[in-house]
Amino acid sequence: MGSRLLWPAGSEAMPIAEYFSRDYASARQRFQAAAGRAGGALTSYVLPGHAGPAGEALAIDVARLGNAAGAQSALLVISGTHGIEGFAGSGCQVGLLEDRLHEALTGSTCLLLLHALNPYGFAWLRRVNEDGVDLNRNFLDFSQPLPSSKAYEGVHDWLVPADWNGEARRAADAALLGFAQSHGMPALQGAISGGQYTRAGGLFYGGTQASWSARTLARVLTEVLPATVRRLGVLDLHTGLGPPAYGEPILDCSRPADRERALRWYGADVKDLSAGESVSARLVGTMARGVERVRPELELTFIGLEFGTRPMMEVLTALRADHWLHAQSGASASVRAQIQQQMREAFYSESAAWQAGVYGRTADLALRALRGLG
Ligand SMILES: [Zn+2]
Repeated sequence: MGSRLLWPAGSEAMPIAEYFSRDYASARQRFQAAAGRAGGALTSYVLPGHAGPAGEALAIDVARLGNAAGAQSALLVISGTHGIEGFAGSGCQVGLLEDRLHEALTGSTCLLLLHALNPYGFAWLRRVNEDGVDLNRNFLDFSQPLPSSKAYEGVHDWLVPADWNGEARRAADAALLGFAQSHGMPALQGAISGGQYTRAGGLFYGGTQASWSARTLARVLTEVLPATVRRLGVLDLHTGLGPPAYGEPILDCSRPADRERALRWYGADVKDLSAGESVSARLVGTMARGVERVRPELELTFIGLEFGTRPMMEVLTALRADHWLHAQSGASASVRAQIQQQMREAFYSESAAWQAGVYGRTADLALRALRGLG
């Protein structure tokens, strides 16, 4: 019996659209059921003090498949680092389980699927976590001085104006446009999204301490990832940047050898984040640094796989609306629903073609990673 990813699917194959879910609670159920059917060992970490919109528990779930005893290599696939982006990532993970990616594992490799690193944001349709923190800016060593937030301070008031449908908003939009015209779009993108540590209600806020999700990932790396593993490939699934449904593999590395290895595994599509080659701005406090601190002995190949959705300005507008909404106490139910829908469309698509493109790309890169890991 071969893996369904490697051989043609039988008539019992589930349509790709059925891998994807409408909300966090059903995504979690689907993931757990698929992991169970695939024979995965499940570990769950429940977020204390918070629940989802229907009162459901919020948790990071990890499925481990393949040889755990004595494994030398592992592939870790992560969804929902940015909450709402988990709609895409969760669907891909369910697909990898339903299509039995683990049957492509060698005897010395195991597969970890981490579902919903930021379950709060996933459930509540936000990119940030329960404390307004962007997890992919939160993996700093907080015993050291915080990075500068000077560039962000220059644009914050324009990003989150006093009103969303009035004069303050119009003035803010004009100011952002003026900044882009005089400094260029890359400078604006860098100022907005590079990471900031001064405005808790602002965009791309990295926090002032390690988040629950960051601390839980450290536990996963010591409690679920076997101690014998020496080579780790990570695919961290994101949406919201780049051409629709195209997945840009963004390498986050600190050593030249990691770059050479990533190019060997994944090909010339790989973009190096620190070299400024990516659709993403250069970032501080990313997850790859956190993984390196917890397991410094690992040969790490860390890829953020970024799938495009809507044009960049549309995605930015949705994020601004979301942060404006959460700075209010009295927004009406209809305004809230409208902004939540705007967020959903900025980070996910119901289109079957988009979902098939996203899943196919993820499965392709996962198989390449397994070949690279041997
Ligand atoms: Zn993301």
